[in-house]
Amino acid sequence: MTTIRLVRGDITRESAEAIVNAANSSLLGGGGVDGAIHRRGGPAILADCRKLRAGHYGKGLATGKAVATTAGDLDARWVIHTVGPRYSQQEDRSDLLASCYRESLRVADELGARTVAFPAVSAGIYGWPIDDAARIAVETVRKAETGVEEARFVLFDEKAYQAFARQVD
Ligand code: ADP
Repeated sequence: MTTIRLVRGDITRESAEAIVNAANSSLLGGGGVDGAIHRRGGPAILADCRKLRAGHYGKGLATGKAVATTAGDLDARWVIHTVGPRYSQQEDRSDLLASCYRESLRVADELGARTVAFPAVSAGIYGWPIDDAARIAVETVRKAETGVEEARFVLFDEKAYQAFARQVD
């Protein structure tokens, strides 16, 4: 059983073994939580990302997939980068968002990480309505078969925290 915990705060300050980055497919940095992780984690994360791009991930990381790098100067041991889908009113992309959580947990299992901190993937620049993003995140982690003992959702603002709290209560 994976214990779900909610925290309000900045994911770059979390001491989970792995923290998940809401990356973009280039893996070369961006805004939001991605920018914050690279800023605080230092150049080692980007160096690892560049190696991934030079190797197996020449075209970048596909939406819904996940891959790990060092966490550089962060307290965590690993950053797990996942690419959320942009929200669309025309097309239901929920399964791609669920896949971000499933794939991140699968990578965490490969690494042997027991505690994983997640941001609200896709709920920022990618525009996903927070209540729906929270429902998909919590349902997917609850259903996942994983050795991860604690999944911690780290919510940056009160609105996101409350949306996740409604799913967990
Ligand atoms: P996306 O492009 O997947 O939407 P964003 O980084 O824009 O990714 O936003 C994802 C979520 O992460 C949003 O809810 C945003 O408020 C939140 N966020 C931004 N910075 C941080 C941070 N330092 N720690 C935790 N969450 C953050």
